[in-house]
Amino acid sequence: MLKIPCTQKIDHMSASNPPAARCKDGDTVIFETMDCYDGAVTCEGIRDWEGNKQGKYMANPATGPLFVEGAMPGDALAVEILDIQTRGWGAMGTGFGENAFINYDGEYEMRAFNYEDGFVKIGGKQIPVDHMIGVIGVAPAGEPVPTVTPDSHGGNMDCNRIVVGSKILFPVAAEGGLLAMGDLHALMGDGEVFEYGLETSGEVTVRVSVVKNAMKELAIKQPTLYQGGRVMTVASGKTYDDAVRLALEAMYEYLLAHGWDKVEAGMLMSMKCDLAICQIVDPQITVRAMLDENLI
Ligand code: CA
Ligand code: CA
Repeated sequence: MLKIPCTQKIDHMSASNPPAARCKDGDTVIFETMDCYDGAVTCEGIRDWEGNKQGKYMANPATGPLFVEGAMPGDALAVEILDIQTRGWGAMGTGFGENAFINYDGEYEMRAFNYEDGFVKIGGKQIPVDHMIGVIGVAPAGEPVPTVTPDSHGGNMDCNRIVVGSKILFPVAAEGGLLAMGDLHALMGDGEVFEYGLETSGEVTVRVSVVKNAMKELAIKQPTLYQGGRVMTVASGKTYDDAVRLALEAMYEYLLAHGWDKVEAGMLMSMKCDLAICQIVDPQITVRAMLDENLI
């Protein structure tokens, strides 16, 4: 099986990135990923600040990109998450003075958590790990986008529903799609409120396939996620207002493309569509709109 090593990494998603590997429509591929620190933190939770200053590490690197034959602008690239395996520990920093913790001071601190038995121990509690992918996306239309930034191409969406068993459709803007991913989390609540997930590295096995003309025929304008019996439009914006509007517009147009009339589509959304925050700490806010798949 094709495996892309973690040494094949990028810190921008871009149509001009040379492919790290190529595959056919329908192939299964393994991505070996670095953590968001690019290996700068040890299993004792010690961060190499000196190396950081010297530019030794990338910020939030993604492995790839993978060129999928047959994927053309206007199509969608469907990515099924078949497996996520990670090392047995993760590391988190603190988010004092940032975002929702703007009113709280505290020393920056990094801590590592071992979860080899499948549980994270914190404050005397045991929490089962729930692996997810923080960064996943394709090359954007236009300018390169840093892998720390989420947008309509995907990227650093930090959506905790991107787990084993989920499928995501990405709007393709560049030939081959140029799929890349990284930033695995062993645990992360909606919002990623204290700046970090439980950051880890590992291997992700995915099956990739091309959905022709999906941008027009299925109205795939934003990453569109299928998980747990729900379809979710995931959108990012500079503000909460923008992100919410973009996610709802994508869901509304998805319904119209599936034959709903414009009045009932809106009414259905008011009846059954749920909004949730994916993350509030990245250069753009990410939210998702969710509807039961069997309603569409
Ligand atoms: Ca992230
Ligand atoms: Ca992260």
